Amino acid sequence: MRASSQRIKEDVEAIARFTARGPGVNRLSFSPEHLEAIRYVEQQLRPLGFEMQMTPHGNVRFRRQQDGWDRPAVMVGSHLDAVPNGGRFDGVAGVVAAVEVARLLHESREALARPYEVVVFAEEEGARFGGVLTGSQAMVGRLSRDRARELRDAQGTSYLEALGALGVDTAAWEEAVIRPGDVCAYLELHVEQSLVLEQEHVPVGIVTAIAGIRKYQVTYRGVANHAGATPMDLRHDSLVGAAEAILAVSEVAASSPEGPAVATVGWISNSPNVSNVIPGETRFSLDVRDTDPVRLARASEALLARIRDIGARRGLEVAVEQTAATEPVRMSTRVREGLRQAAREAGIPFLEMPSGAGHDAQEMARVTDAGMIFVPSEGGRSHCPEEFTRYEDIALGSEILYRAVLKLGKHK
Ligand SMILES: [Zn+2]
Repeated sequence: MRASSQRIKEDVEAIARFTARGPGVNRLSFSPEHLEAIRYVEQQLRPLGFEMQMTPHGNVRFRRQQDGWDRPAVMVGSHLDAVPNGGRFDGVAGVVAAVEVARLLHESREALARPYEVVVFAEEEGARFGGVLTGSQAMVGRLSRDRARELRDAQGTSYLEALGALGVDTAAWEEAVIRPGDVCAYLELHVEQSLVLEQEHVPVGIVTAIAGIRKYQVTYRGVANHAGATPMDLRHDSLVGAAEAILAVSEVAASSPEGPAVATVGWISNSPNVSNVIPGETRFSLDVRDTDPVRLARASEALLARIRDIGARRGLEVAVEQTAATEPVRMSTRVREGLRQAAREAGIPFLEMPSGAGHDAQEMARVTDAGMIFVPSEGGRSHCPEEFTRYEDIALGSEILYRAVLKLGKHK
């Protein structure tokens, strides 16, 4: 194997130092620490002959001078922005792996027919401006300049204004959009953020598809009343209804063949939320995910039907609002095959698995053949200071990426 876990460790530790404060990593898009992390990546790539370009969308692209910017490239990357009090590996592992691939290409002097490009997407987490996958959505033409003017941070600064403050010319927003045919392929390594690889003792996952998401807000309206004076059989208790609905969601997702891969009620708001008053209005979220579009739609409808039934049976008024919807995205069969061959050649065991979390690769999949590999997250922990992935595993993933880039980049 050529990929170096030592170099990867140095990169991850160096980038972890670019943080606003503790605990964990705090690195919002276009903050001084985010720009320092980008500069660190540039410092690694410049000696290898790469030049840097910040796009009108705030993404950062690196290519070797001799390759120019016109020809479709094999792109590898991820993101450097972090959630508040986040970990060192989410996004960073993928950028560091892309840098390691650049080093391996440089050392091996392998000739590619296609340019090799490292890309760092901005605002993947949406932690500053409240969107999600903002940089990659802009890159593929799914986030307009007008929308970027509306996305604002806690201080009221818009995404567009933040770019302007960096001296980025956003007038060329539309021209910078990547269209089908402009990219040869996109590859991304990411930490798994779950327990499957660790439990199976396998160092690498090849992603089959990224789950689609349906999000809803459900409101149960009952009657707020005196907790002492109202007999049990005369109550319309919205919180008891929500409790039954939450259990039903969990049971259907866990055990029913028609259920989705996962379903979660993660937020609840109860009114008046007073100890001696029967709850009169309870609102809760429903988050449904699956990699199969038909099952996602059917399971979401089935869960909502259950929620409506439970409300009706308890004499509650039920209102459902859909708050977000994304479709599942299949990873490219050509790229998956390239990754599988690369792993076999390198003698690295792998699993094929879906991704429950969203990633920049799902946006890139709209314009090119996209693929992803996962490396294990210790204890499945992510978006927290304890987030950890073994450097040896990132090196194994980088080795697969390198070999896949050779395969994908050799064909005209
Ligand atoms: Zn990430």
